[in-house]
Amino acid sequence: MTATGVRLRRAGEQSAVAKPLVAIESASKVYGTNRGLSPLSLAIHAGERVALVGPSGSGKTTLLRLLAGALVPDEGPHAVTIDGKSPANLKPGSELASLVGIVSQRFDLVPHLPVLHNVLAGRLGHWSLGRSILSLVWPMDRRAAQLALARVGIADKINERPGRLSGGEQQRVAIARMMMQSPLVILADEPVASLDPARAEEVMELLVGLVSWNGDNGASQRTLIASLHTASLIRRHFTRVIGLRESRVQFDLPAGDLTDAVLDELYDLGDDADRVEPLAGLAARDG
Ligand code: ADP
Ligand code: MG
Repeated sequence: MTATGVRLRRAGEQSAVAKPLVAIESASKVYGTNRGLSPLSLAIHAGERVALVGPSGSGKTTLLRLLAGALVPDEGPHAVTIDGKSPANLKPGSELASLVGIVSQRFDLVPHLPVLHNVLAGRLGHWSLGRSILSLVWPMDRRAAQLALARVGIADKINERPGRLSGGEQQRVAIARMMMQSPLVILADEPVASLDPARAEEVMELLVGLVSWNGDNGASQRTLIASLHTASLIRRHFTRVIGLRESRVQFDLPAGDLTDAVLDELYDLGDDADRVEPLAGLAARDG
């Protein structure tokens, strides 16, 4: 029985015959002498909202980068597939961009280009080089970018430079860019780690909103996989939570079953550990 089959049975609520959208079959990653991820198998179905938790160095970013096609699994590209395709086999461009997109903790915005251009960069994967260059002179799809920025609540920042925006506003720009990219699977690496609790809640709502957002590629149901450290956010916004520790899966639970105690144990925090500060500290140290 493959891990995929096991997961299908455990999932219960999913049709037993539904093929997983994301299939990781015993994929691992070693960086030189450092283990990034031990052989790991996971099946994730369309529409799931999966939270990845685990201490710094547990392999969250490695897993997300394998899914994004930015890293090749040691077993070869086919160990990770999304919708039957291997992200690592797709050249950056339209096909990869409509399959999977990633928002990172550092937002990866171009500081000296206006917000408008940063948002339109989400389209680059779908555009020819000529159109991409032209868009720097006369932004195409300006209307679509305006709508995306309005949706994330910063329509008035369209001509601003990202360097002049707050962390929460920059993360909104990154989410608007993701809307322009409109991928089937949305990956987010610690998207709220640098935000205060109120801003974190807002950004999480926006990211989760993208799962059911009907973008212009007609995808009606996206899948979200995000790393974060806050149990309450996970219980509110996710359907499933996977705990990683020392590059292995420690638990795989319905998000509603994630207690603070389970999370504290994963992070090696004692019973009397403060619920907020140590986790915020871990998040801040995480690279
Ligand atoms: P997390 O995102 O959970 O903090 P990572 O996936 O970044 O974990 O890292 C998992 C392990 O892989 C860690 O031991 C880390 O030191 C190692 N690692 C990550 N990236 C590299 C790299 N580029 N070179 C060498 N080791 C790395
Ligand atoms: Mg990381």
